[in-house]
Amino acid sequence: MIKRVALLGSTGSIGTNTLRVLKGLPDRFELVSLCAGRNAELLCVQAEHWRPKRVCIDRGAKAVRARLAPLGIEVLEGRSGMRELSVDPDVDLVINGLAAGVGLRPTLAAVRAGKDVAIANKETLVVAGHLVTAWAKQTGATLLPIDSETTPLWHLLQETDRDDVKRIVLPASGGPFFDHTREQMAGVSPAEALDHPTWQMGPKITIDSATLMNKGFEVIEAQWFLNLPVSKIDVIIHRQSIVHCLVEYVDGGMVAHLSTPDMQLPIQQALVHPQKLPTQVEPLDLARVGTLSFFPPDTARFPCLQLAYRAVEQGGTAPAVLNAANEVAVYAFLDNRIGFLDISRVIASTLDDREAHRDADTLEAIFEADRWGRVRANELICSLVSQK
Ligand code: MG
Repeated sequence: MIKRVALLGSTGSIGTNTLRVLKGLPDRFELVSLCAGRNAELLCVQAEHWRPKRVCIDRGAKAVRARLAPLGIEVLEGRSGMRELSVDPDVDLVINGLAAGVGLRPTLAAVRAGKDVAIANKETLVVAGHLVTAWAKQTGATLLPIDSETTPLWHLLQETDRDDVKRIVLPASGGPFFDHTREQMAGVSPAEALDHPTWQMGPKITIDSATLMNKGFEVIEAQWFLNLPVSKIDVIIHRQSIVHCLVEYVDGGMVAHLSTPDMQLPIQQALVHPQKLPTQVEPLDLARVGTLSFFPPDTARFPCLQLAYRAVEQGGTAPAVLNAANEVAVYAFLDNRIGFLDISRVIASTLDDREAHRDADTLEAIFEADRWGRVRANELICSLVSQK
């Protein structure tokens, strides 16, 4: 049976890689709709090629409509449009590659409508993992992770008794400041932080990789996707991004998943699970790679990783606050308002507040915590800026 797909975030790195994967699987998937944030030009080019029934753009639908309406493509706008694509009765699978905060609501809407959702937007499970997984159980929606670490882990652990797993290990590239001292990190510019050694991604996730918060989010995300406590999830620095995950069993044996770093592999793994089909991913020549190196993460230089574990320990709304404070701080850094090391300072101070961890039983409580976290982080940033 052909699966009908809504692709959210089609112009980003996940979206463009997903289109490459779908191109190779024309007998299995039909692209019904595309959704983009701001890149109207690329959205139009994609729509002209793929001829979906509908597209949605966050802002500026008028110009897009002028170009695509003659092709019979309906053009929607903004959050309501995104929601409409997510709950469309003509869609079986929603692939969510939207950036950060905007991705949460469409995922929730799709899960509540019982759609299968492939989630590359890890913030969704960071802030509301307990609710999303509970709703998916109720509605029968399948949640598929799209992440170079979580997707192969999810595959490896499908048939595995969780009691047999001693721990899993998520490798992190270490980002561009792996060798930097704290003093050096204090002075790095946004441009230096955006220069990731192995992956090409959007600015938010690239900064998250440089601070290791991305790995912290993956730890939180992995507990929900893999049904494992965070106490069984460790992180290791692995510079080459060749080993994408490790599973250590109680008998002392370890299994690793290796490949050339290319997002097309985890995307296809998630989409055609449980099958394996050929991809365009460059074969891995280990003899040419030669050496694979591993280091323990240095949490004194990269405190964000520890903050993620701390938020899980605090529980309730703390992961939502962690995410909110991080997002505000990352954009303040990208705007040159605060320094690189201030990102973790702002998050830590926000989490220190008693308001940061309340009950997170409802979506409203989570949205309120998100709003509060943003306000608090902004206050802290303003006081840092005024001290400069
Ligand atoms: Mg990853």
